[in-house]
Amino acid sequence: MANNTKTKAVKSLPKTKEKISVKKSHSHDIDTRLQSHFGFNKFKGRQEEAIHSLLNGHDTFVIMPTGGGKSLCYQLPAMILEGCAIVVSPLIALMKNQVDLVRGYSEDDNVAHFLNSSLNKGQIKAVREDVTSGKTKLLYVAPETLTKQENIDFFKSVKISFFAVDEAHCISEWGHDFRPEYRRLREMMDEINKELPVIALTATATPKVQSDIVKNLGLREPNIFISSFNRDNLYYEIQPKIKVDQTIKSIVKFISQNKGKSGIIYTLNRKTTEELAEILIANNIKAVAYHAGLDSKLRADRQDGFLNEDVQVIVATIAFGMGIDKPDIRFVIHYNMPKSIENYYQETGRAGRDGLEGKCILYYSHKDVSKLEHLMRDKPLSEREVGAQLISETLSFVETSVCRRKVLMHYFGEEWDLENCGKCDNCLHPKEKTEAKEEAVKVLKVVKALDGRFNLEYTINILCGRQTPSIVMYRHEKLPEFGIGKERDVHFWNSLIRQMLLEDLLRKDIEEYGLIKFTPKGEKYLKKPTSFQIVLNNLFEGADADDEESAAANNTGSATDEVLFEMLKELRQKQAKKLGLPPFVIFLETSLNDMATLYPTTLLELEKCQGVGKGKALKYGKPFAELIAKYVEDNDIEKPDDFVMKSVVNKGNNKVYIIQNVDKKIPLDTIAKNKDLRLDQLLEEMESIVASGTRLNLNYAIDDMLDENEQDDIIDYFRGCETSSLDVAREELAEFDFNWEQLKIMRIKFLCEYGN
Ligand code: ADP
Ligand code: MG
Ligand code: ZN
Repeated sequence: MANNTKTKAVKSLPKTKEKISVKKSHSHDIDTRLQSHFGFNKFKGRQEEAIHSLLNGHDTFVIMPTGGGKSLCYQLPAMILEGCAIVVSPLIALMKNQVDLVRGYSEDDNVAHFLNSSLNKGQIKAVREDVTSGKTKLLYVAPETLTKQENIDFFKSVKISFFAVDEAHCISEWGHDFRPEYRRLREMMDEINKELPVIALTATATPKVQSDIVKNLGLREPNIFISSFNRDNLYYEIQPKIKVDQTIKSIVKFISQNKGKSGIIYTLNRKTTEELAEILIANNIKAVAYHAGLDSKLRADRQDGFLNEDVQVIVATIAFGMGIDKPDIRFVIHYNMPKSIENYYQETGRAGRDGLEGKCILYYSHKDVSKLEHLMRDKPLSEREVGAQLISETLSFVETSVCRRKVLMHYFGEEWDLENCGKCDNCLHPKEKTEAKEEAVKVLKVVKALDGRFNLEYTINILCGRQTPSIVMYRHEKLPEFGIGKERDVHFWNSLIRQMLLEDLLRKDIEEYGLIKFTPKGEKYLKKPTSFQIVLNNLFEGADADDEESAAANNTGSATDEVLFEMLKELRQKQAKKLGLPPFVIFLETSLNDMATLYPTTLLELEKCQGVGKGKALKYGKPFAELIAKYVEDNDIEKPDDFVMKSVVNKGNNKVYIIQNVDKKIPLDTIAKNKDLRLDQLLEEMESIVASGTRLNLNYAIDDMLDENEQDDIIDYFRGCETSSLDVAREELAEFDFNWEQLKIMRIKFLCEYGN
């Protein structure tokens, strides 16, 4: 395996110097400084070269993976050069941490300061005095700080040694954390002093992001130092997320087997962080949630708790971890699909910074993709286009059967030739390979015919001979190549083309809408085809999680019997047909879920399932209990006790309270407030009350939310619908633009009137 210090030539960068000959100035100084000041006995990776480059006054660009030791590349020169270095860093929350680290090396706290909007006037004055007097060698600033004229004037009046721009990928919208203020840095630096050298540093940069950085920061013929992005010690695995219950169970199990080891779980939204943390806590795991909605004191406390190991697991939105310097994080779990490969790389990169074990597990469901798309819905079109491209790249990474490392490295523009990395799920369980020489030739012929002007999807449509409107528009159905790959399906061509991209037989131009282009290697291959073995992609079929939010909240704690669950669903379908009712009126999905977990074989036992009351058990329960009894008998089922996961304790008994207050026609907002529930949680409770057979007359509340016609429309819809999903209902009723609460409350009314 390549190690972290290997130099890689990167395609598409302007003026990349293959061999950089940097004059060694101050060489005596820098070795002793490394020892005396920082206490390290040798440089890591390409630190030394980068430091010389900066000391010689060159613009310098350092690309090293997380934990590679980028900070030293500017900290050490700052100590040597006359004046104070300005370090631009994106997150105010982490500046203090960084300053503390620098101060830790020095006897004098004045050596480093930060200047940002969190300081008061007196503090600002003190910082300025230290800078003016020359005591301060490193000044950390937020990009916003540099946009203030008074600060610029101040910086013009003192001796500055150089600019360092940390997390430089923030300058590019193709990176994983675009910060528009970064775009103005060049302008600001020019105003302070055009002549000063600039050092840019980042841990993640695809070739595209790299060239954005060089361009937007206006780096002048920079010396570029790139280390390999491979992280030898990280293990990558991707698992389908089929049932949320099961996913949570396997996470709890994993963490329980890794007692005392620190880890991060990333999720997409705040609510999930809290729910997951709650479940972990219920299972004796020291966990906390972390997200931008918490106040800063609480966030700082939780971050500290994690650093000093009072907290084992932090369940966080991606807001957490940027710049976190905890070397011994042993696992990073993605509960949702990250929005780009860069995000994934950056987030998993926080594991194993000390070079020891680091497990990276991602749970993936198709639903995550729509969630990510949903998150972008309000963004401007160009941003959505970029976002969609990034998601589609991530998807291909997730679904691939090829070595994960190979795909990651390829994404970062590195070559990766190792047959089996030995540290990813696909390499540990390699799939059989299929010869695809003839098909590869077909692909190349099509791409040639299309002259590199069309994307993956279009190319596949030509191969499969599909007459889409755009194909017809270009008259491509007349091409001799049209339909030459009919005998194979879309998945096959997808797998093949992605692997041809990995092998450089083709190239995808992400900047240009993902057009598929020819490469010299592809040209050669077409002339003289050789064996081309591919693995067919995991399709992750069925990786479609049920509704995550409610499932996590209503978590029953143990794994569902998938087979039984399907049988119960079928039975419900049959009964529904017989009774002329929508299936969910009979039992909710959550009830079936419980049945497939608890195996109730009598009506009394059936009542223990969520959403099944006496009335319901009597009315609909019999065939279900019979089916389960037979299933239990046939399959010799005993209650599984290998690993029992505790679920979250039911939040008090709200039910009686709710029933009484609805009787009194108390506004729902008030009920919710009194019980410390959100409206959606209240409705959830109400639905489970109604589902178990108690009537709630909600008309007083409904009349406030919807007029009569609207109510009729929704009831009509529910009468004929196939699924109880509110998402589907919203789509089907899109023209009316009903919100979730409106549909939910009508579904409750419907259940009440038709189900009981
Ligand atoms: P990055 O910013 O690239 O993610 P940091 O600058 O935070 O990485 O450094 C990561 C870790 O490596 C820190 O704990 C740092 O003290 C350590 N480190 C940096 N340079 C060296 C070196 N030459 N020898 C040993 N450890 C080093
Ligand atoms: Mg850093
Ligand atoms: Zn591998």
